[in-house]
Amino acid sequence: MVNDLYDCIVIGAGPAGLSASLFLARYLRRTLTFHHNSPRNEYAHGVHGFLGHHGIGPAELLARGRDEVTSHGGLIIEACVTSVEKVSHQHFRVTAGGNGTEPQVFGAQRLVLATGLRDLTPDCPGFREFYGSSVHHCPDCDGYDVRGKRVAILAYDQNAAAFAAKLLTWTKHLTLLTDQNEISTADHAKLADLDVAVRTEAVVALEGDERARQLKRVFFSEGEPLECDALFFNLGTELAADFHETLGCRLDPDCGLLWVDKTQQTSVDGVYGAGDITPNSQLAVVAAAEGAMAAIHIHGSLIPKERRI
Ligand SMILES: Cc1cc2nc3c(=O)[nH]c(=O)nc-3n(C[C@H](O)[C@H](O)[C@H](O)COP(=O)(O)OP(=O)(O)OC[C@H]3O[C@@H](n4cnc5c(N)ncnc54)[C@H](O)[C@@H]3O)c2cc1C
Repeated sequence: MVNDLYDCIVIGAGPAGLSASLFLARYLRRTLTFHHNSPRNEYAHGVHGFLGHHGIGPAELLARGRDEVTSHGGLIIEACVTSVEKVSHQHFRVTAGGNGTEPQVFGAQRLVLATGLRDLTPDCPGFREFYGSSVHHCPDCDGYDVRGKRVAILAYDQNAAAFAAKLLTWTKHLTLLTDQNEISTADHAKLADLDVAVRTEAVVALEGDERARQLKRVFFSEGEPLECDALFFNLGTELAADFHETLGCRLDPDCGLLWVDKTQQTSVDGVYGAGDITPNSQLAVVAAAEGAMAAIHIHGSLIPKERRI
């Protein structure tokens, strides 16, 4: 039975999944990777901080990654995984289909979940026009590019003040927009101490130079528009897929993301997790590193006992 199975199936072909697939292919492991479009950073104009590839277009990074995997013998199928199941120890069943094709069933001894996150995004007019260029969600990725600029911050949960304060690293011209939501009196006081302005009116539209994808101002339900050069938002994320539920993988109670151990293995034997779905920093380079780690340990776990010295 084991001979009919792939050594590993990787679900998701973002930086995490492709990095796992590349290492597994280089370990000569029979690896099948599912690539279904819409990686998390498809709107970004460039991947920042990926050493050696700083600023590369997200689509180009992934296209290069897919070429590297297939040129090492890895197999990539463009299809959406619709279900996963643990059949027995060392046997997982994965069903995939889409684009009008019949669902197909595949089996593997190990699984990598690398399906990423979805960002909850503002739904006001103008958002899509500037997202990834002058509207961002990740200070670690894009904070450097707003040095000294006028930045609006759309956030209103209990982390809103901390999120705003993070941007003080790069600029002191900050305005927090709470979009008619309440933030605590303590947070108001902290923000006042840090000289961060707060606007509480409903945000109704973003406007700017659409051709240059440059945000210029935010309009509110009442009051003057806010002139600004960039906007950061922090409205939360959700897991892009729920395979962890059917497999019984536990989530980290602090952040609600997929719990993994030091080898990237989840709480279910043989199921590994890598990339944004795990609790580490949500960066392409971290996702790629986690994919590589998962592959190293998957390979190690598949080495027969008699070859382990
Ligand atoms: C606008 C934006 C800008 C960013 N800028 C930067 C930056 O400058 N620098 C940086 O380091 N990071 C940046 N990031 C973060 C970075 O994109 C993520 O950390 C990285 O993409 C995570 O990689 P991943 O492989 O875990 O997930 P993803 O890249 O999201 O890939 C997951 C893949 O799994 C696929 N998938 C999901 N469900 C299924 C399914 N059922 N079947 C098959 N496939 C499935 C998805 O389609 C997707 O392709 C940015 C993110 C955003 C949103």
